[in-house]
Amino acid sequence: MIHGFLLLYLLSNAALYLVDEKLFASSYFHTPLVIFDTLFLTVSLAVSGQTSADFYIACFLTIALSCICHDFRGLMVVTALAPLLYGYSLFQTTEVYDPSIYLRLPFLFVSSLFYGYFAQLERVKKTLRKQAEQVVQNMAMIHKAKSEFLSVMSHELRTPLNVVMGYAELIQDKLLGEINQEQEEALGMVLKQSKDLSSMINSIMDATRIEAGAVKVQSQVVSLGDFLDELRSLYSLPLDKELTLIWDYPADLPVIKTDSEKLKHILQNLINNGIKYTDKGHVTISARHFPETATVEFKVADTGMGIPEGALPLIFEMFRQLDSSDTRSYGGVGIGLYIVKKFTELLGGKIEVESEVGKGSIFTLILPY
Ligand code: ADP
Repeated sequence: MIHGFLLLYLLSNAALYLVDEKLFASSYFHTPLVIFDTLFLTVSLAVSGQTSADFYIACFLTIALSCICHDFRGLMVVTALAPLLYGYSLFQTTEVYDPSIYLRLPFLFVSSLFYGYFAQLERVKKTLRKQAEQVVQNMAMIHKAKSEFLSVMSHELRTPLNVVMGYAELIQDKLLGEINQEQEEALGMVLKQSKDLSSMINSIMDATRIEAGAVKVQSQVVSLGDFLDELRSLYSLPLDKELTLIWDYPADLPVIKTDSEKLKHILQNLINNGIKYTDKGHVTISARHFPETATVEFKVADTGMGIPEGALPLIFEMFRQLDSSDTRSYGGVGIGLYIVKKFTELLGGKIEVESEVGKGSIFTLILPY
């Protein structure tokens, strides 16, 4: 019977190597394991007649010491010293030499190792859980502070900027008196820069509202043909570079239910980027509809600078720009594509991008209807 117990004991330890690591680390596994192990060894010791009060005291002392060890090195010292010291005391006190009494030593060794290891595992888990909670709390605080800061800043900037633009328009329209050609041109610059700044502030406010979950979809019936005609009319003014806009969409585009404001925002952002990052060539805006899958597909393709492959997954993140140096040649804050992505998700669609450096980029928006 004793040999049977020993064999089972060895086999059960060997079987532990086959246990999945995740299961091994879970308390649902090691709590029953420790209880079973203790019962199993106690029974085997009782059957072998090798139990005595001094052994149990040695056991509890060893387990207690191994559990309070805070690091692995301390645990190893306890695990090695406990059987050695107990073996030495047995050797000193036992009158009749009986080798089977030394079977108690591996029990001390293994229980110290097991209990100590699991106690450490629990300690590490607890610390990690606490740290994770702290990180989540800190992130939430930073996030809140950032959103509040952005929204206050945007409001504080927008109000005076509107006043500046209002007066500049009044002067330009000669409502406050005559102005000469040079002054008119200067005012044109003031207005252009102010409008850029205003749209940047609006983007920041949009992003803040998206982050706060305050942006909702407001669907209405939209005739895509009319919608694209209207969008096209916004780009009728000549561009100040050698760039042509090509509009390519069939006359029979369907009437769909969607949030036209958000769709307009998405496409305008893609078209404006196409214009911004293309020095010469063309930006093609196309639309197709696929009745079999009930989807519409918009493409904005340019012949501009392109985006390196490694940067493609990053451009949709907030404040991401390929060139964010102070000396960069293009304006913007890297928020446009973040809003594009979020609005696309709100409309239930998806956005894809293909690009080749020096050749151009193609942004594809797929919308279900
Ligand atoms: P930004 O305000 O900088 O234009 P976006 O979020 O619109 O911010 O775009 C993020 C970055 O992705 C840009 O800084 C630019 O580097 C890159 N990018 C976006 N569209 C294009 C494009 N059509 N061609 C080349 N690069 C682009």
